[in-house]
Amino acid sequence: MRPEILFPLFAPIDTLKGVGSRVAPLLARVAGGDKVRDVAFLRPHSLVRRTPASLSAATDGQVMTFEVTIDEYQRPRGHTQPWRVRVSDPTGFLTLVFFGRFADQLEKRHPPGAKRIISGRVDDDKFGRQMVHPDYMVEPAKRDEIPELEPIYPATEGLPARRVRTFALEALERAPELPEWQDGAWLTRERFPTWREALARLHHPETEADLAPTSPHLRRLAYDELLAQQLAMAQRKAARRREPAPRIAASGTAGRIQADLPFAFTGAQARALAEIRADLGGGERMSRLIQGDVGSGKTVVAMCAMADVAAAGGQSALMAPTEILARQHYETISGPLTDHGVGVILLTGRDKGAARAEKLRALASGAAKVAVGTHALFQDDVAFDRLELAVIDEQHRFGVSERQRLQQKGAAVHLLAMSATPIPRTLELTLYGDLDVSRIDEKPPGRTPVATRAAPMTRLHEVEARLHEAVKAGAQAFWICPLVSESELIDLKAAEVRAAELRQTLGAAVGLVHGKMKPADKDAVMADFADGKIAVLVATTVVEVGVNVPNATIMVIEQAERFGLAQLHQLRGRVGRGHRESSCVLLYDPPLSETAQKRLDILRRTDDGFLIAETDLELRGGGDALGLKQSGFPDYVFADVLGPHRDLIAAAGDDARLIVTRDPNLKSERGKALQVLQELFDWKAGLGLRDAG
Ligand code: ADP
Ligand code: MG
Repeated sequence: MRPEILFPLFAPIDTLKGVGSRVAPLLARVAGGDKVRDVAFLRPHSLVRRTPASLSAATDGQVMTFEVTIDEYQRPRGHTQPWRVRVSDPTGFLTLVFFGRFADQLEKRHPPGAKRIISGRVDDDKFGRQMVHPDYMVEPAKRDEIPELEPIYPATEGLPARRVRTFALEALERAPELPEWQDGAWLTRERFPTWREALARLHHPETEADLAPTSPHLRRLAYDELLAQQLAMAQRKAARRREPAPRIAASGTAGRIQADLPFAFTGAQARALAEIRADLGGGERMSRLIQGDVGSGKTVVAMCAMADVAAAGGQSALMAPTEILARQHYETISGPLTDHGVGVILLTGRDKGAARAEKLRALASGAAKVAVGTHALFQDDVAFDRLELAVIDEQHRFGVSERQRLQQKGAAVHLLAMSATPIPRTLELTLYGDLDVSRIDEKPPGRTPVATRAAPMTRLHEVEARLHEAVKAGAQAFWICPLVSESELIDLKAAEVRAAELRQTLGAAVGLVHGKMKPADKDAVMADFADGKIAVLVATTVVEVGVNVPNATIMVIEQAERFGLAQLHQLRGRVGRGHRESSCVLLYDPPLSETAQKRLDILRRTDDGFLIAETDLELRGGGDALGLKQSGFPDYVFADVLGPHRDLIAAAGDDARLIVTRDPNLKSERGKALQVLQELFDWKAGLGLRDAG
């Protein structure tokens, strides 16, 4: 229940003065929400100083203020033409430009000969020095109407920055003092202002430094946000732990399966399995994530856990985001499991009629102990006899409710998530604060690293010539054309053109997959590629991260400099899966910046996804360097966790865990204040919380 003290902040946006039915949707778009709170949380991005200058100092592109005399009006020649007004001071002149009919009244309000203070962006163009629609144009007596310092807010068409500012200031007025939810010692140490003071400073910056994310008030707001999120995650994790879950012991079956594999587990795999077993044997509900590169051996670890569950009489479900991935998992695990008496079925959207009915019966009766599949697994008519373990591959590609629907097919189902997106340690909590994490940071032996090189687009023909040779010799290749321009259509066209061109130069079968295709069509092309019917697969984006085509040994990536390194690494991970030498060509549009060059260089130097992710974070230190948004990275309002607020993550995580241990129901005085904080940020209801369970 929302505390009463927050009601003013959660009032709808149109309760703000001047926000009617036209403005409300525009303001909601700018604020990213339709509550007063969302407007109060808007941030000015820059600060304009409106100290008058002389016209001789006018500088192109700068927001400036001048005291001028109106000289003369130049009427427009047609309606599409603007009014032009020449103004001057003793040091020079400038043309004011006004579009629209209202300009008729302009001359009455600002007659020639009058003195005015004008303020706005100076713009040098082919007509000379001008100012289009000044922000302010007032009589010298009314100079107080022009704020000396003006923070500039984000705006949108039809809603200029200055009106957004008016609304933001009103929203700030509605914000009450709130009880302090931060620890006193921490506040002192960090020199944090109170929440209300921090918000007030946000909207009334006094210097450029006040806009910097490192300023104490912005760090305070960022920390509040991180704590709210970490607390929600820690609570969820604790709640899951409190649910008694079936105790599952390590089994002889799993031991025999492991012994029969043609390889031994790596140290990292053995550790991950031991951690899973400690959870499964502990009597509490497991929520664990295995993180590891594609091919690092996550699935076979999960298979052993599923064998343990089966040996104890329970069932497991392994869910993958696409049919192809589900099929590949099935191929990996069904042999070893069935060889040791564990019944496995594959259930996807393709199963229909009698065959599907039979699979459903096997699950309902408990004859099948393991179900591998897609979304088909959580449909309403799928029932398990005793589902005890849900394994979810690429969990961020499922919605929260989808993951829950699967887990609701049993009682207190243990959760094992798998992800191939390497997340730097420092960022792990922001995504997986409600999970325990096992890392598989060691590759199975005997893999030849993928020979990686970068080449400018100017050498495209050489790359094509080499590919031609390789394809003639029977090799298969991926060719990635990213979606990068404003228009997806243009990008698609570019990919189609590339596919056609390759078809011609290579004289081989070239397939094309892109995100706009129906899943079934996409699957069909992918299947042809997997079967070797297609030599080169052109794709517009990161298609199916885990897809395994052992015969594919070449990966060409166009505009590689546009990708997050983690994505490049994952793409590259699709080749080099068999025993043959593999290669990866990173094509870029020259010239490369120094950072871009260093980034591509990391890929040449290492094959360790975690190291790549850490280094990329260090190198770019901001923005979505890692392509994390695609991995379900939370969309923070204040916290810049890839940049200057990175150091706050661990502190917020520790703080949250301590709170949950000491005051699980948030009953203490601080606890009650923390409840207000959580409601304020609404992480529980919002999309931000990547709920794994
Ligand atoms: P992931 O799920 O992490 O992508 P998988 O478990 O599917 O990886 O393993 C990828 C391939 O490597 C499979 O063919 C698997 O049999 C094999 N493999 C797994 N672990 C090892 C290991 N320790 N040594 C050699 N091969 C392994
Ligand atoms: Mg896999």
